[in-house]
Amino acid sequence: MIIAIDGPSGAGKSTLGKRLARAFGLLYLDTGAMYRAVGYASMRAGLSEDEDAAIAELAASSKITLEGIGDTQRVYLNGEEITSQIRTPEVSHRASVVSAIPDVRTELVRRQQMLGKAAEQGAILDGRDIGTVVFPNADIKFFLTADAESRAQRRYREDLAKGLDVTFEHTLQEIKKRDTRDATREHSPLIKAPDAIEIDTSSLNEDEVFEKLAEIVRRVRS
Ligand code: C5P
Repeated sequence: MIIAIDGPSGAGKSTLGKRLARAFGLLYLDTGAMYRAVGYASMRAGLSEDEDAAIAELAASSKITLEGIGDTQRVYLNGEEITSQIRTPEVSHRASVVSAIPDVRTELVRRQQMLGKAAEQGAILDGRDIGTVVFPNADIKFFLTADAESRAQRRYREDLAKGLDVTFEHTLQEIKKRDTRDATREHSPLIKAPDAIEIDTSSLNEDEVFEKLAEIVRRVRS
């Protein structure tokens, strides 16, 4: 079984994806972490944002590993753990930039398809293009949304908890910029698949969203 969870940043995709994976014994794949790893690698290599060809080459030659079950997902770049390094606002920005490079997407989509297909018990993938490009025949497609303020509020609280020096205003601006970039890029823009189930999480708490999703998974599974 393949479950796709798409939607803008901060809508709760990864929290819910991990929780569903744990509840149903599925592999959880955070595809955003892969774009973040490439973004981080490109920064560390001293590449600037517009060096598309060099960034794509770096993506093709980098080994990105996602490890762990449930909440303890770790991310490795060529064997080195980069789990916390890829969660800074700078890497969020760079990940969004590198994800617009067609050759980067082609490479990561190929890896995501391989990982998803290899998961014997099935997999949940969270991203932007899972239901439209990576697994257009997914058994279930969820599209989680929330208004920009609610998403910025969640991200802001997470960043504060990590001890990052951020302001709500800045977080909101960054979320809006990323939304525009993700939705307007030429290659695989963020769009809802026609057969995706859309859930607006703005006024729901995590348990309420989980119940809605779990109910659908149970129904499809039986
Ligand atoms: O989901 P997350 O915010 O960690 O993703 C980081 C960035 O990677 C997003 O802003 C988006 O531009 C990009 N991304 C993507 N396609 C995916 C997952 C993430 O373009 N499937």
